[in-house]
Amino acid sequence: METEGVVLKSRDLGDRLRHLTVYTEKLGKVNLLVKLRSADFPIKYEPFSVTEFKLLQKGEKWEVVEGKLVKENFPKTKGELLYRSKIARLLSPLELSPENRLYQLIKRYIEEEGTPPAYQAFLMKFLFLEGLTPRLFRCVECGSSEISTFSVEKGGVLCKKCGEGSGIRWSREASVEAYTLTKEPLEKLKKKRFRWLNLIETAAQKHLRYRTEK
Ligand SMILES: [Zn+2]
Repeated sequence: METEGVVLKSRDLGDRLRHLTVYTEKLGKVNLLVKLRSADFPIKYEPFSVTEFKLLQKGEKWEVVEGKLVKENFPKTKGELLYRSKIARLLSPLELSPENRLYQLIKRYIEEEGTPPAYQAFLMKFLFLEGLTPRLFRCVECGSSEISTFSVEKGGVLCKKCGEGSGIRWSREASVEAYTLTKEPLEKLKKKRFRWLNLIETAAQKHLRYRTEK
């Protein structure tokens, strides 16, 4: 079995043994066991690297027979490290099936430097691909377009009456920004100004966790 994958996590088990968490093109997110050979140049098994894997199934586990580096994304700055780690941390605990558009999204965003709004754009696009986009323009409860809060539990925005001051502070402008991050390519987004990125990040991450944990 051969598949390309983006390394999300790499843990040393000692004795030249490594445990990898990888989002692969053909298997989705998998855990892989690697026995490093002395000739192996381990950057291909480091977090954020894009690697072509040759795998062997052993029971329910996958072992790496061979790895060929496609692109290393070793962070050159602290900003890059924080940004790429955030993506890896977001994805590592989730169960993710193989999906070409998701693979392309991860591969595309993991090599970014991480200047805002890269992470928030990744997050919103990821929610969209997973079918988890929150309701953004009408109150989840009554359908009113007067938006005042974001409710993680309800999965979208609430008006003042229905929200009763609970939830995350929100506005129509925040919804427009979240929608723009979902829809537009990063090149275009980089030229725009956003005012709600922190709240969008908080809301989107909580929204995702609420729907994927347990
Ligand atoms: Zn309402």
